[in-house]
Amino acid sequence: MPARTLVGRRSLAVTVVRGEDGAMDGFLVGRVRGIDLRLNWSVMVIAGLVTWSLADGILPEEAPGRSTTTYWMVAALTAVAFFLALTAHEMGHSLVAIRYGVEVKSITLWLFGGVAQLGSSPSTAGSALQIAIAGPLVSVAIGVVALAVAVPFGGLVGFAMMWFGTMNVFLAVFNMLPAFPLDGGRVYQAWRWRRSGSRIEATDDAVRVGRFIGGLLVALGLLQAAAGVVLSGVWMMMIGWFLREAARAEGHQAHVEVPLRRYRVVDVMTADPLTVTPETTLTSFVAGRFMGGRHAAYPVTIEGQPVGLMTVDDIRGVPEERWSEVTVGRVASPMGELVTAAPDDHLIDLFNRFGRAGEHRALVIDDSGQLVGIVAPSDIARLVSSLELVTG
Ligand SMILES: [Zn+2]
Repeated sequence: MPARTLVGRRSLAVTVVRGEDGAMDGFLVGRVRGIDLRLNWSVMVIAGLVTWSLADGILPEEAPGRSTTTYWMVAALTAVAFFLALTAHEMGHSLVAIRYGVEVKSITLWLFGGVAQLGSSPSTAGSALQIAIAGPLVSVAIGVVALAVAVPFGGLVGFAMMWFGTMNVFLAVFNMLPAFPLDGGRVYQAWRWRRSGSRIEATDDAVRVGRFIGGLLVALGLLQAAAGVVLSGVWMMMIGWFLREAARAEGHQAHVEVPLRRYRVVDVMTADPLTVTPETTLTSFVAGRFMGGRHAAYPVTIEGQPVGLMTVDDIRGVPEERWSEVTVGRVASPMGELVTAAPDDHLIDLFNRFGRAGEHRALVIDDSGQLVGIVAPSDIARLVSSLELVTG
């Protein structure tokens, strides 16, 4: 009965607290104390598997003699309770975070468990530790209460409660593995941070341990799958892989994205870039700009106001014999296709706009509509490599 080995007594659910980049898609189901509660579509897969494995395997085996409908109803209720408990776990992290002045944007349930998305990082090792440990404490408390109540009940309902209680205790224990960004990894990071006084060193250390344990889970899953317990093995491999990637992303965030938040567009842009007028022919543009210049893109302006952007790609579509009659204004990308920014915009916001637009250049325009700079990939690469140099 593979489903049972998958989500039966060994169900692994990962609960992580993620930084600002940890946004996850999901439809809004409610809002508690300003925190959006979201469900990712993938949670349906797991809810379905949990219900199925309970209704079709575990419950009839442990408490026989009931109708199929009864098993499915109890199974569905138990699955709902499990996901509510997962939400309560994330709520535990979130409420402590809020108490320490850390904004909590959302809680999302998805394929591997729950994610609480924070708007900023805890400012002290002590608060980081308490935020990390609050979730597992909630799960243990729910589990212990459920197990205590289950005993006098007995029968089908008692067994369902016992399963629910065990799962919550297991949830707490598994998530206390020191595999960053699991809760245990965050506890380890906070502990290292408190000891060494360096948050970035503590993070690097936690990322290393997290990636190692993630790799270990992949290897264990592979062995399990090879031994014939395929679904459970594949599940463990997926979680191990997810942890490795999440740990890597956390490390990158700590080194590059967090320091990046201090920067504004004006800090990285190339000021007063070379420009070209729309009536310039391609012949004189190529001769005058491309040959002498080091840049791959030139803002097109009329009296300092940007009207487009001319890149090497815009010339490629035009045969060379027509260059003398085609003007820059006819082939340049119009403003509607470009990303723009104000000098005071936060760089991180510009990056988000790049991501959405699939762009990597921006024209920087001041309040009066004048072009004051351009942000090119080389400007960003220079900053990122200097950040990596400084912090890493
Ligand atoms: Zn947690």
